[in-house]
Amino acid sequence: MMTRHVISFLYHEVTDNPKISGFQVVGALPYIHKVSHFLSDLDLILKHFKKSESVINLSSLKDMLNLILTFDDGGSSAVSIAKILSDKGLVGHFFITTSMIGADTFLNTDQIKNIRKMGHVIGTHSHTHPSIFRDLSYDQKIDEWGKSKKILEDILGEKISTASIPGGDMDDDTIRAAGDVGIEFLFTSEPSYRPYEKFGVLVFGRVCPKNTTAASQINQWAQGKGFLKSLLIRKAKNFMRISLKPLYSVFVKKGKSTL
Ligand SMILES: [Zn+2]
Repeated sequence: MMTRHVISFLYHEVTDNPKISGFQVVGALPYIHKVSHFLSDLDLILKHFKKSESVINLSSLKDMLNLILTFDDGGSSAVSIAKILSDKGLVGHFFITTSMIGADTFLNTDQIKNIRKMGHVIGTHSHTHPSIFRDLSYDQKIDEWGKSKKILEDILGEKISTASIPGGDMDDDTIRAAGDVGIEFLFTSEPSYRPYEKFGVLVFGRVCPKNTTAASQINQWAQGKGFLKSLLIRKAKNFMRISLKPLYSVFVKKGKSTL
């Protein structure tokens, strides 16, 4: 069991023009950061860390508290995000929705290869980005992880060992299915800085700043503070969502689901 603490941040799009990157739904808007806003978040975070880490090297790290930067969905703004990070000597993790590769506002295969060449980690964010991943059958879960992993492996010519869960809704089978297709590192949307091992998979929580999240909150998270409060808020939201499921599915159909 790993006792090292890892603060993982989850971002989506970073662009001044929301129309050019990522899922074009109302629900995506709070997760689109302007470039200047993202740069100030990074400045705040980097007051507490010298650098960001690659999850693949985690076992060799010596520090007790480590930083991981992750970016979900595979929208085309990942190209400029990767450059911003590389210019600062930081490594990022880019989780790609593989059915969207080459679509209008998403990365194409050459861009994915270039981001990898810059030294960043490429992982899967499922094939079709199901709104509520937990609700899939086990076979569908296997299919989502397995197919997307294979597509990325064919593009990059290397093993893909990392993944993040779309929508953040998960259950044990979500982890088990990821492990069964060879995923070693799985990122959730549960606010936690303590990675844990389950079904042979190392599972990491994440905090997800919106474009309205206060600087003081980013600053707290970067120090490993305020996670319990974030977890309670998330649990309350999940409870509402599950108890009001029929209503919630209407919102999902209207494209208001979380990413
Ligand atoms: Zn997503």
